[in-house]
Amino acid sequence: MNELILLKSGEIALKGLNRSSFEDVLIRNCKRAVAGIGDFKFYKAQSTFYVEPRSDCDLNAAVEALSRVFGISALCRARIVEKDFAQIQTVAADYLRDVLEAASTFKVNAKRSDKKFPLATPEICRELGGFLLEQYPHLTVDVHNPEVTVTVEIRDFAAYIHVDQLPGAGGIPVGTGGNGALLISGGIDSPVAGYMMARRGVKITGIHFASPPYTSERAELKVHDLCRKLVPYCGHIQLYTVPFTEIQEAIKRECQEDYFTLIMRRFMMKISEIIARRQGCGALITGESIGQVASQTMAAMACTDAVTTMPVLRPVIGMDKEQIIAISRQIDTFETSIQPYEDCCTVFTPRHPRTNPKLDAVEKAESKLDIDGLIARAVEGAGFIVIQ
Ligand code: ATP
Ligand code: MG
Repeated sequence: MNELILLKSGEIALKGLNRSSFEDVLIRNCKRAVAGIGDFKFYKAQSTFYVEPRSDCDLNAAVEALSRVFGISALCRARIVEKDFAQIQTVAADYLRDVLEAASTFKVNAKRSDKKFPLATPEICRELGGFLLEQYPHLTVDVHNPEVTVTVEIRDFAAYIHVDQLPGAGGIPVGTGGNGALLISGGIDSPVAGYMMARRGVKITGIHFASPPYTSERAELKVHDLCRKLVPYCGHIQLYTVPFTEIQEAIKRECQEDYFTLIMRRFMMKISEIIARRQGCGALITGESIGQVASQTMAAMACTDAVTTMPVLRPVIGMDKEQIIAISRQIDTFETSIQPYEDCCTVFTPRHPRTNPKLDAVEKAESKLDIDGLIARAVEGAGFIVIQ
């Protein structure tokens, strides 16, 4: 093929000495993202990555897949041309026919990283602009607000012609920020929290608590679906499902009702910490947002955090529901999240949950339980699948 995809790396360019290992991870993630689409050759030069198909394939599908890979600030499909100006002109006129015919104004933008190329950038712009005007006489040049910007990049290996770069997913490559265990319910917030941490380079392991028969198999499958929606951003996800029924029943039987949710959340944290450590995760991640519900006050979070020494990352903590929903729509988890299947949290909701709990009172309320035994059995009973 005479086309390829150009990727511009974002923040990665700032990473100094670590840069090459960041770039290796980025390339590995990109390869994975397009593995099912075609056979591609990857190479890089001057903070640009080249993704060149070795045979015919759906380049637009590859662009779409790569637009979800973190660590890329912009990307575009481009035509490869020899570094010969006459060829650049004719190929540009031909390659961009559809866009230029549909437009009424344009400008040419030139970048010349190969300084040996005989024409300087202003000359490239002027000459190519003039040539395209001859070919498409209906066009006029508008340097300030053009409908189409024709870009010519004269680089080491060849020249490249393209229009309109797309924004990339931003962030830094998944796998460069350590591993984090995402407590994922079937709700709106936790998938968004996972997406946000992946955007900061964190590789996500999922942990889901299920309470059959109070929660249905369909509720579990919904969590699988949510993880699947996250895969284009996060890469494959190991998802642990923890049996939570025995714990919830014991809490309901033995503990004061207004502490149900809090005690349950303490169990979730503790069990997640154990699984997270085994998986080499350095933090827990939740979709909590301050003030959203009774268990998400500062005092309640202090009581849940007291059971773990792991950092608990809450990337949506300061966001309104509206903002979280906007992200969930953007990453396409929203429609799945709002499917009406019961989560274990909603099955045993107390009528009057404590919003200002004290740690010693919570500890007292749960003291009748065989905490260690319950935790050990839940961890033992956890199963996992890999979602990809
Ligand atoms: P979400 O939309 O993520 O469910 P929420 O606003 O409904 O969040 P809660 O149900 O109180 O809030 O849960 C707070 C957080 O606790 C969730 O964001 C998630 O990280 C974790 N969590 C809740 N239920 C579960 C579950 N069944 N399995 C794993 N984690 C859970
Ligand atoms: Mg929830």
